[in-house]
Amino acid sequence: AAAADENDVVVIGGGPGGYVAAIKAAQLGLKTTCIEKRGTLGGTCLNVGCIPSKVKDRLIPPFPFPIPLACSICLLGLCFRFILHQFLYVPCLQALLHSSHMYHEAKHAFPSHGVKFSQLEIDLPAMMAQKDKAVSGLTRGIEGLFKKNKVTYVKGFGKFVSPSEVSVDTLEGGNTVVKGKNIIIATGSDVKSLPGVTIDEKKIVSSTGALALPEVPKKLVVIGAGYIGLEMGSVWGRLGSEVTVVEFAPDIVPSMDGEVRKQFQRMLEKQKMKFMLKTKVVGVDTSGDGVKLTLEPAAGGEQSILEADVVLVSAGRVPYTAGLGLETIGVQTDKAGRIEVDKHFMTNVSGVYAIGDAIPGPMLAHKAEEDGVACVEFIAGKEGHVDYDMVPGVVYTHPEVASVGKTEEQVKALGVSYRVGKFPFMANSRAKAIDDADGLVKILAEKETDKILGVHIMAPNAGELIHEAVLALQYGASSEDIARTCHAHPTMSEAVKEAAMATYDKPIHI
Ligand code: FAD
Repeated sequence: AAAADENDVVVIGGGPGGYVAAIKAAQLGLKTTCIEKRGTLGGTCLNVGCIPSKVKDRLIPPFPFPIPLACSICLLGLCFRFILHQFLYVPCLQALLHSSHMYHEAKHAFPSHGVKFSQLEIDLPAMMAQKDKAVSGLTRGIEGLFKKNKVTYVKGFGKFVSPSEVSVDTLEGGNTVVKGKNIIIATGSDVKSLPGVTIDEKKIVSSTGALALPEVPKKLVVIGAGYIGLEMGSVWGRLGSEVTVVEFAPDIVPSMDGEVRKQFQRMLEKQKMKFMLKTKVVGVDTSGDGVKLTLEPAAGGEQSILEADVVLVSAGRVPYTAGLGLETIGVQTDKAGRIEVDKHFMTNVSGVYAIGDAIPGPMLAHKAEEDGVACVEFIAGKEGHVDYDMVPGVVYTHPEVASVGKTEEQVKALGVSYRVGKFPFMANSRAKAIDDADGLVKILAEKETDKILGVHIMAPNAGELIHEAVLALQYGASSEDIARTCHAHPTMSEAVKEAAMATYDKPIHI
């Protein structure tokens, strides 16, 4: 049976890209259906990514679930979007990062603040239960938003049968065909596998398995020094694992500003994370109790063995379009499997669009969300806009590292004359007061115009501080614009103001 003959928009995938696109489409008055195979909304980010790693207990909403009830109350409905947004993107991978950070602080930082207790222990099942509770509350929250905005939700696996028809094998066991004038592919991404390394989600895990380990591994090896590997390594390191990160490239997080990256690596080493850079994994033996990895220098040379209880494969992510039937309707992908789109997010097939991790650009939840809104605005005949140069990136370790715009290496490569302003948190009163003063703010500005080109922050709450810089870049501000804006005292944000001062003049406090 045709489930929804008259859909204006059909979205395949209910992740941050897909569910946001569906809600926005409905808000624009378009009849919308969203198809999701997982049975829960929120995609990778909410189910096995950003959220479970980072959820914070205090973000549980103060009003009673179920969400549809809450949404039916107008006033709460107004608060809802704000609260949900906090849930989804502040806490990405946050649950475990936050819980493990609390444990680490209690163990290492509380005594110097005069807070002492006689016994401190980890209750891993309780930690995992807190994470699961937050995730399930959030997924139900999105279902509530679908109901509120009248988005039809079809649970099942979608496959193109024509550019305007998607056949869905429903989770209940039937099949239905969903028709739409416009179809948006928002099927996201999956873990990139490494040749010869088979993920069993027990001894060799992906990030999904690393979010649900039944006990703290004594030795954890992380393959890949990208942001997910470092965040997961931090979680288990804080809980007591000996963490070694093996990386093929000469540097960790290659997209990071070089100077900030060096300081960041030093910080992680101070936290006892070990790094084996320019090293490749050439063999895996799981026949014994643990795992034996055979390593070799990236350029070739003598092999060595590294033992682990658990190995996390975190070597990147690849677009997920398996079984979608792209070939049936002739949608083009590039060599990396990413769906090619024009500036309106339309594929080479008229009426078929793609967004989020499935297309080129940063693989981030907030980028997918921006794609979704802009794509639907184009479909509705409005102007959509996403500037990938203005997408902030955050590594949610402690301290966090956040950036927006260009790195110093990129500015140099462009041949632009520039100035650098830096300010260390050691000279910031708030950071000193809370005894959490590792890190810095670094601002790059064009020499001639003082226009800000890039901002890089390493600080406990860098992921929050960066948004002042994102706004500044978005509006083409100069560093003097930030420096002459009054910042409250005592706050970490004052370090951003001082770094801006240092870009064209002298800071006050150093
Ligand atoms: P996804 O979230 O992958 O959603 C796609 C959805 O489509 C899935 O639910 C899938 O089940 C569904 N689907 C696929 N094929 C079909 C089909 N044929 N039919 C029906 N449904 C289908 N990003 C951040 O911004 N901040 C973070 O802190 C962060 N932390 C992360 C931590 C981890 C461990 C991981 C793995 C990722 C993290 N990310 C983070 C990245 C973020 O999760 C992704 O960028 C984001 O989820 C992409 O959104 P999306 O909507 O494009 O795809």
